[in-house]
Amino acid sequence: MKRFLLTLLALVPLAGLFTGCTTVQETGRSQVMLISPSAESQMGLQAFSQIKQEEKILKDPAVNARIQRIGTRIAAAVGRELPDAKWEFVVFDAPDTLNAFALPGGKVGFYTGLINLAESDDEIAVVMGHEIAHVTSRHGGERYSQNLLAAIGGAAVAIGTKDDKNKELYLLAYGAGSTLTTLAYSRSHETEADAVGLRFAAKAGYDPRAAVTFWRKMAAKSGGGEPLKWLSTHPPTGERIANLQRLAVPLMPVYEAAKAR
Ligand SMILES: [Zn+2]
Repeated sequence: MKRFLLTLLALVPLAGLFTGCTTVQETGRSQVMLISPSAESQMGLQAFSQIKQEEKILKDPAVNARIQRIGTRIAAAVGRELPDAKWEFVVFDAPDTLNAFALPGGKVGFYTGLINLAESDDEIAVVMGHEIAHVTSRHGGERYSQNLLAAIGGAAVAIGTKDDKNKELYLLAYGAGSTLTTLAYSRSHETEADAVGLRFAAKAGYDPRAAVTFWRKMAAKSGGGEPLKWLSTHPPTGERIANLQRLAVPLMPVYEAAKAR
């Protein structure tokens, strides 16, 4: 019992304010949230600087400028939904790594493997929108909170006695970095990020139909039996592709208007 209490005490400051429950702005879904947005941003920032040290940053100015250009437009579309964002878009030189992620605080990482597969700016934009939607919907924070509750409630209270362990939990929650193991987002998080992210892309003037072509390509890729981490956490199911097709229809006027500007 004493150990359990000590563990709890160790967890409290790391979790920031116990805010309990919040609502996802875009969808109105309520979620468990035991971490404040500022604590989340702080951990996102720390994680991002760690990843930048561990991974090889791409030197190619043309590719960097391209991701920067797409990112700037998506960031403008996200606007106040991520009020404290200090946007940063970094390309990692790893042609075999099919991965992309976004962290709280507005930190976005793209691996060259995924950029090469995506081909068009529209396809890159829908992936970026999706990843940023995980952040605006605070999916990592939610998962972190769920993990924390499980740790507190379960027998495995050894977790959280070290700061490192807690940070690890958090990193896992956002699936950042190419070398870390990842927990898959739940299907409901994926569906929510698809809907919210596609709206960001359309608002930024990118064709929402690109999500369909991109995921079809991903589906073809998944047949190759390659161990692709991002793919394993983002299954390109027929159901997902059909849903994206439906979601793109009402977004076409949004996209056309943004493009005409
Ligand atoms: Zn996702």
